[in-house]
Amino acid sequence: MNLGELYNDLIREHSMSGHNKRHLEKADVVEPGKNPSCGDEINLELLINGDKVEDAAFTGVGCAISQASASMMIDLIRGKSLEEAKELSRIFLNMIRRETLSGEELERLDEAISLQNIANMPARVKCATMPWHTLERAVADLGK
Ligand code: ZN
Repeated sequence: MNLGELYNDLIREHSMSGHNKRHLEKADVVEPGKNPSCGDEINLELLINGDKVEDAAFTGVGCAISQASASMMIDLIRGKSLEEAKELSRIFLNMIRRETLSGEELERLDEAISLQNIANMPARVKCATMPWHTLERAVADLGK
């Protein structure tokens, strides 16, 4: 299996898996995100404890890339501090913008690295980045 196939499998797995697609029993913030150009819509739910993302989940509809990106993001930020979540978001968005990142930074994205080739598909970039922009707004709302 080459890397491209492995990445496609990861995207497919995440887009089909429901493990992050649910409602939290309680949430401190519910942030909507939309990508009208593709019809992707999510509601991101975060449960915060102190400065930590205690739990996260999402509901929504959309293409495989948007739903996989949301699911991978949630796996990454669960249990992390809000500062770390912001940092991961910065790294992910820079990866999609093809900015230079260290190997160490890329490694922190774990499975979300599988979305890096989306940078070559301008029509799909918003599908991949929409959940992360939604996260940034959710964190900003919490700070208010
Ligand atoms: Zn999409």
